[in-house]
Amino acid sequence: MDIPEGRILVHQHNPDNWRLRNLEKHPIDPNWETGTYSKCHIGFRENKRLKVNTVVFDLVIQDKKSIIRSAFVVKKIKNGIVFFDSFLFADGKPLEIPEKLFPTSQSRTRHGNIISDKDSNDLLEDMRAHSYNEYPVGTKPFSINQNDWEKMILTSSKCKDEQHFCYYRTSSKI
Ligand SMILES: [Zn+2]
Repeated sequence: MDIPEGRILVHQHNPDNWRLRNLEKHPIDPNWETGTYSKCHIGFRENKRLKVNTVVFDLVIQDKKSIIRSAFVVKKIKNGIVFFDSFLFADGKPLEIPEKLFPTSQSRTRHGNIISDKDSNDLLEDMRAHSYNEYPVGTKPFSINQNDWEKMILTSSKCKDEQHFCYYRTSSKI
């Protein structure tokens, strides 16, 4: 597969568990259970330059470190909704994003920080060599317990039709 580039997108997480989505503020994306990305980061989803096979790296900030929680390859883009069919997930100790790819001083952009095809491939390789596992969409990563997974899916399915606004650069919480 030819990867054109990667996008680093920062997400809020559940305050008690960084592997889970933030159910209060950003309950839907990345939607590992359905393989869609439809509510967060509108500047990324609706950007005309977004290409199929772009890799999305899902970053969360944990103890001031930028760690990679999951990653997926864009398979389709339709009406501002991004589709994927599998994802890598941090089941063990997560990797920190290298400083050169995501400088801490860099301001975050609405369309996601763009990294090259080579850096994206290297990072994916690194993730696979570490503790990341690949799952087909809809599969619960083994590091998430069943109750948490079900609660997350239920919450996200309930608010699918609500409007959602991410906010940017207002604080470290994105
Ligand atoms: Zn959001």
